[in-house]
Amino acid sequence: MPFLRSKATRPAAARGGSLFDELRRLEERLKEREKALDARESALRGTPLDHVGIAVRDAKKVLPIYAAIGLKPHLVEDVESEGVRTTFLGSGFSHIELLEPLRPDSPIGGFLEKRGEGIHHVAVAVDDIEATLLRARAAGLQVVGEAPRAGARGRRVAFFYPNSVHGVLLEIVENPRMGRAR
Ligand code: ZN
Repeated sequence: MPFLRSKATRPAAARGGSLFDELRRLEERLKEREKALDARESALRGTPLDHVGIAVRDAKKVLPIYAAIGLKPHLVEDVESEGVRTTFLGSGFSHIELLEPLRPDSPIGGFLEKRGEGIHHVAVAVDDIEATLLRARAAGLQVVGEAPRAGARGRRVAFFYPNSVHGVLLEIVENPRMGRAR
């Protein structure tokens, strides 16, 4: 390891510390730098909006509209348990999720029947879904059904009833990329 010889050992010898002490100090400096970078990254990221869910009758008819503003589908996935086909549009951190019913008696089928097409829910990314659920329950948010449960993209998700979120069906999505631990 040539770097040990070039820089690390000279100051250690000057201070009379051992090579081990010097390595530990270097490690601490690296950790501090990592922490600073994490803080800068989360400041740049802002509100971690994962996606907006939009209920549609036929995703194929909707795709050209979003393609016109540069949003292309990058994942189509059926979530059989919810009776829904999800199409994620766009790249990067935040997406638009088109929700198309696989059968009329599904939750999205019911939503379309009652409310028609339009914004269905807003989803925020969280690093630890269990901890967030605990805090949300304590704050009086009402959880829909079983939580957390398996959502699209292999992620664990949970929903909160709109009547406890001032009219918004709110979803949280666990995204390990949000985590600080390495
Ligand atoms: Zn969603």
